[in-house]
Amino acid sequence: MGDNYFNLHPHCIPVRGYKRSSICDLQREEIYYIPNEIADILMADNDLPLELLFEKHSDHKDLLDEHIHYLIERGLGSIILNPVTSLNLTIPVTESTSYIDNAIIDIDDEHEVSFDIIFRALSRVGCRNLQLRFFRKSSIEELSAMMELLKPSLFKSIEIIVEYARSTRDNFFEFLTDKHPNIKSVFIHSSPATRILRAFDGAMGNILFTEQVIKSNACCGIIDPFTFAVNVKTFTEAQQFNTCLNRKVGIDTNGDIKNCPSSAIVYGNIYRDNLEQALKNAPGFEAMWHLKKDDFKACRDCEHRYVCIDCRVFLADPNDKLSKPLKCSYDPYSAQWEHEAGADEMFGYDTIEPFYQTIAR
Ligand code: SF4
Repeated sequence: MGDNYFNLHPHCIPVRGYKRSSICDLQREEIYYIPNEIADILMADNDLPLELLFEKHSDHKDLLDEHIHYLIERGLGSIILNPVTSLNLTIPVTESTSYIDNAIIDIDDEHEVSFDIIFRALSRVGCRNLQLRFFRKSSIEELSAMMELLKPSLFKSIEIIVEYARSTRDNFFEFLTDKHPNIKSVFIHSSPATRILRAFDGAMGNILFTEQVIKSNACCGIIDPFTFAVNVKTFTEAQQFNTCLNRKVGIDTNGDIKNCPSSAIVYGNIYRDNLEQALKNAPGFEAMWHLKKDDFKACRDCEHRYVCIDCRVFLADPNDKLSKPLKCSYDPYSAQWEHEAGADEMFGYDTIEPFYQTIAR
């Protein structure tokens, strides 16, 4: 055993929390948990041969042995003949080349919407990923005309959230997603039954129906394990930027330009102002991009902090912009989630199907 070393695979990165550590497998997009003692040993002494590793940590021998077996069985690490000099914990951020990378557009039945004006403004700032949240029904004609404006050459990923309408048959949604390969998902809320019409793991063209009702932007900001994004982009971005707001713009039902449609601060109006100028003239807009999980109370001690999508609108303490998201029921100091069944009552909002959130990420 003298020349053997234990090596975590380079895509399996430990993140130390207050109570326990996670290992984020950024290739298979999975998360595992190990005790902090084991994470500390693996991070500090990964250059020691196994024999010396066990000798040095004889007080944790059984725990170490158990977890090395656990990590090997799950494909997170292996025994190798040469030591690795250091764990690569700082992967460079996957930077977007666009000023704005993604947008959320809210639509209700009290305000007129001009998709043409909104999409032209967004394409001018390089935005290629859209989420359209209809808090109302939409017709076949409206959805078809809207998608004709969203050419794949300009917009690469579209998510549509729309209220169920009895007159709109399943085959229309299948036709729409077949015709427009840039549709990532269509999520039909307020449906009579929850069902999956189409689901392609990690791929485009998903169609999901849910009984959940989404009638306002209060649906924003729910954090649970199903919303974690265990991937290189989020993991690297989270270490420098906000995982919800970085390079995002929100257009609310009134056309107001914000960081997120649910935010209070308005930077202009999409129908009256030049979007790029409105954003670049507002120092507060980009400042929100730089609020990262390592800065927030509780989150900074949480082993999920580099895979967790943030929310800066609904805060545990509305007077403290660095408090943790209100709609997170995880306590990193006990490593416990509050009982999920109580979540609706506790927060007073409509929960969104976890499956939808996984697809929509
Ligand atoms: S405490 Fe913070 S980082 Fe941890 S799960 Fe909750 S919101 Fe995410």
